[in-house]
Amino acid sequence: MKYFDEMAKGGHEQLSFNYDKASGLKSLIAIHDTTLGPALGGCRMWPYEKEEDAVYDALRLSRGMTYKSAASGDNWGGGKAVIWGDPKTEKCEALFRAFGRTVQYFNGRFITGTDVGTVGSDFVWSKMETDYLVALPEEYGGSGDSSILTAYGVWRGMKACAKEVWGSDSLTGKTVAVQGVGKVGHHLVDHLIDEGAKVIICDINPDYVRRVTEKHSEVKVVKPEEIFAVDCDIFSPNALGAVINDETIPQLKCRIIAGAANNVLKEPRHGDLLHEKGILYAPDYVINAGGLIQVADELMGYDPERAKRKVGNIYNALLAIFAISKRDGIPTYRAADILVEERLQKIGAISRIYTTRD
Ligand code: NAD
Repeated sequence: MKYFDEMAKGGHEQLSFNYDKASGLKSLIAIHDTTLGPALGGCRMWPYEKEEDAVYDALRLSRGMTYKSAASGDNWGGGKAVIWGDPKTEKCEALFRAFGRTVQYFNGRFITGTDVGTVGSDFVWSKMETDYLVALPEEYGGSGDSSILTAYGVWRGMKACAKEVWGSDSLTGKTVAVQGVGKVGHHLVDHLIDEGAKVIICDINPDYVRRVTEKHSEVKVVKPEEIFAVDCDIFSPNALGAVINDETIPQLKCRIIAGAANNVLKEPRHGDLLHEKGILYAPDYVINAGGLIQVADELMGYDPERAKRKVGNIYNALLAIFAISKRDGIPTYRAADILVEERLQKIGAISRIYTTRD
């Protein structure tokens, strides 16, 4: 991989290689775009097979964060850190303190928190060395479990989809198939039942299924492999990525796909296929931004009401995307990218007005 070529292709600003001999830290910090503000993005710890895979992940994920942050309406840029190491065996105080020092020398240009392979308590060590962290454990000032607001955002997003398809955002009487009732999925079911929707669920973990059915006896349960073909109005993926693909699309009977899972479309062309079939897809990085909005709010002194209000606004963000989709006759996943690119372009351009804050 030619790193500068990759950065040019992706439009990245910065890629930093950070090594510490004493702790063995090998980390990368990729900053994709800071048009809107400091780069925000989690820190992934993963035992990549080779250096190139770590670089590829940092570049890919940081770019994704630019889009997710910009679509949320907040003013954060896109960045991501990766630590090349095994999260099962290589976590220690020195490693995370060295990482903290690395983050600190970005002096607020990059702010990080948890991602795959890291948990809030790891960063209690990093906190000794840097001010630029979010999503710490609550006793260290973090805002707590982000899956609650993520689920709230998915529910609000689903209502925007309903408004677009049926002209009313009520989910009362609609049938929603929820794939995965883990941290986000089970909170989402609570919102749906409260609103009078009919809910069908599946999960590979029987304990998680039981947690839902003990609370809501009216919920119907199907086997994981049956969920794509059930009769429903809305399919809600809250388990894995790539679940919308050549095998599953022909099975779907829904009019809407709206859930928390990341990278729902196996390939972009699957978004085109949904568009052709008249299935409205809520772009993943827009509808699942509740957790990001929550941790970003910590940077302004966490206010749960404000965070919830902003997450609720996912509703309007999706309506704006659907309007672009209709305006340009394009699938919603493309319309979401255009919404972001238009915002970056406009906000970037206003800096031509000189002020004494420059
Ligand atoms: P989780 O691990 O708590 O829940 C996922 C659930 O899916 C688990 O209960 C698991 O048993 C189940 N599952 C796995 N494979 C399955 C299959 N084949 N069929 C049915 N169920 C299956 O994770 P989560 O935090 O609830 O996140 C769910 C999705 O949302 C993930 O893709 C995650 O990346 C994404 N997401 C989560 C958040 C958040 O705040 N937690 C934020 C944004 C995006």
